Amino acid sequence: MHKLLIKDLPIEGKKVLMRVDFNVPLDKQGRITDDTRISATLPSIRYVLDHGGALVLMSHLGRPKDQKVAELSLKPCAERLSRLLGRPVLMASDCVGNEVEKMVRALKPGQILMLENLRFHRGEEQPEKDEAFVSALAKLGDLYVNDAFGAAHRAHASTAAIAKFFQGKAAAGFLLEKEMNFIGALKHPKRPFCAIVGGSKLSTKYGVVEALMKKANTVLIGGGMAYTFLKAQGIPIGNSIHEDDFLEKARQLLEQSGKGWGRLVLPTDIVVAREVKEGADFKIIESAKGIPDGYEGVDIGPETVANFTGELLHAVTVLWNGPLGVYEIPAFSRGTNAIAHVLAQLKAVTIVGGGDSIAAIQAAGVTDKISHLSTGGGASLEYIEHGTLPGIEALSDRIATATAR
Ligand code: ADP
Ligand code: MG
Repeated sequence: MHKLLIKDLPIEGKKVLMRVDFNVPLDKQGRITDDTRISATLPSIRYVLDHGGALVLMSHLGRPKDQKVAELSLKPCAERLSRLLGRPVLMASDCVGNEVEKMVRALKPGQILMLENLRFHRGEEQPEKDEAFVSALAKLGDLYVNDAFGAAHRAHASTAAIAKFFQGKAAAGFLLEKEMNFIGALKHPKRPFCAIVGGSKLSTKYGVVEALMKKANTVLIGGGMAYTFLKAQGIPIGNSIHEDDFLEKARQLLEQSGKGWGRLVLPTDIVVAREVKEGADFKIIESAKGIPDGYEGVDIGPETVANFTGELLHAVTVLWNGPLGVYEIPAFSRGTNAIAHVLAQLKAVTIVGGGDSIAAIQAAGVTDKISHLSTGGGASLEYIEHGTLPGIEALSDRIATATAR
């Protein structure tokens, strides 16, 4: 249950093999356009250096498909890290092999070695087919730390398979620890627990909606997926985004609503527009009356904002994933924006996950009023849905280590 943390490790004089998520966005010239993922790992990196350890960092970058792709070298990330830390970062030419092992052996406390892109090798994504790769990686450290939350939903060599070589010595870094503290705690949430789910498609969030209905008191539905729920009830939805393949599933969720599971709350009014662009003709309609032909739903209406606010005011735990409308267009961002401001004022523990949801929180200017922004994208969703992730499961248990020492 409780996983070993970086603070539990005896770091002094040891080589710490740390999985980080340096999978940063690159422009056409191969320059890093956003180094948030690198700077987010600095606390764990500094902690190891400050406690007399040497660091061996490993990450993937992009999708090289098991081959060496020069454009996907981690060298630019090593250089950026060096600049952020103000100390040198050595770069290896590969992530396994004799030469790398030699570099690791020569590493002194306070030094950092960045391994080359893990995904240049098939064994990273398919460790079951290349056990030799896993053991070759495992040779490169005395202790193992995973701080790559964004990759923790993958059972890959560096995120999961490797941990068996570090019995009692595989720990979570600070980023992973924070996610475990907030999203992991949703397994037994403080109640009332209110979840908000939006985004464009029910298909990508169905598992999350179902899991949340089992856990939360109420699940507020907005965004494009709301129209699949409306259509499932026989309500006309005009040209709104929807998924006919999910009508039956939507019906089943509506059927379960409030019956042992949490209550699903759908928008009672909707902003509908003739086109999804700024300046398009739009109006507000009642959901029950249906969306007229030639219009599509683009946002929740003001009555829905008021209803959702009422639900949120009761909650002591709030989770939000998925914008409630086409928030990229200012005219259709009002519902999302309003709910962002409500969350900012709640005393509840507020957790927001998803790339677009975080962008919406930033656009609303309330980033520092949210208890936790979960940055993992796919990892956040899978963690919410399943309550754990392969990269977390693989870590050592805290109690087992205490007895081993
Ligand atoms: P997150 O990244 O937070 O998980 P998603 O990627 O699931 O969120 O959803 C975000 C997308 O959903 C946005 O691009 C937004 O425009 C879209 N969306 C929200 N409401 C609608 C709608 N009514 N019609 C079409 N797209 C919508
Ligand atoms: Mg998204």
